[in-house]
Amino acid sequence: MIISVASGKGGTGKTTVSTALALSLPGPVQLLDCDAEEPNAHIFIKPDIKRTEDVFIYVPRIDEDICTLCGRCAEVCAYNAIAVLPGSGRTAGRALVFRELCHGCGSCRYFCPENAIKEEKRKVGVVEVGYRGELEFVHGRMNIGEAMSPPVIRAVKHKLNKGRTVIVDAPPGTTCPVITAIHGSDACVLVTEPTPFGLHDLRLTVEVIKKMDIPFGVVINRHGLGDERTEEYCAQEGIPVLMKIPFSKEIAAEYSRGISIVEAFPEYRDEFAGLVKKLEEEMSR
Ligand code: SF4
Ligand code: SF4
Repeated sequence: MIISVASGKGGTGKTTVSTALALSLPGPVQLLDCDAEEPNAHIFIKPDIKRTEDVFIYVPRIDEDICTLCGRCAEVCAYNAIAVLPGSGRTAGRALVFRELCHGCGSCRYFCPENAIKEEKRKVGVVEVGYRGELEFVHGRMNIGEAMSPPVIRAVKHKLNKGRTVIVDAPPGTTCPVITAIHGSDACVLVTEPTPFGLHDLRLTVEVIKKMDIPFGVVINRHGLGDERTEEYCAQEGIPVLMKIPFSKEIAAEYSRGISIVEAFPEYRDEFAGLVKKLEEEMSR
């Protein structure tokens, strides 16, 4: 079973939930931290890292001796990663590649009528694999200054082990990196907090998950803070509230020390393990 943990915005408790699940579920578990821009699950899991692998994408290199400046490559690039500047007077034209914008899709090379484009590897980050006892841990880290996390997220997901219960810690938000992370999940846990901002972003995330047709439920973190509108929204929409984590100074203090909620307060282990049973009920509907 693959369970993604997502949230509409950062700082709602997504990593609290994903790491607590990874430490509470029985049987072999794998935790994939796909928040490649800012991975932090390792702070709570403290894995013994065994392997580090580079992540590359293939970016175009244009042979200026062959290129006729026809502009086809710039036309087909959906990411504006190529600009073709026509020559003027004594100024020679040029085809420029903006490597940081390139997604490595290969379209420009495919469509170049002169076969003037070759590809070269560009390192965009690393994937690290480690263990904490029986728990397998994988996370990705983008190189500093990189703009795109999906290639690193895909590399993390290539390590997905279907022989284990897999917890995917998705990046925050509702954009491309989130879709890349949660694609293929059997179920999704949406973490929110009962504030106007939390509710606003929860609504956006619910729209995305519904479009992806993934069964889901909500965990309300910092329950007791804010108001009742998040619960009212869930009730109106028929969204199950899987768990409420109280707004607690003690939980926040342990979090700030890098201690998982289920290690500081073991009484929560059963509740996190039970959360998956509730998700399974949602999947069977
Ligand atoms: S498609 Fe090929 S020939 Fe045309 S501008 Fe691009 S690299 Fe040059
Ligand atoms: S490989 Fe794809 S994204 Fe990169 S420059 Fe070519 S068309 Fe654009």
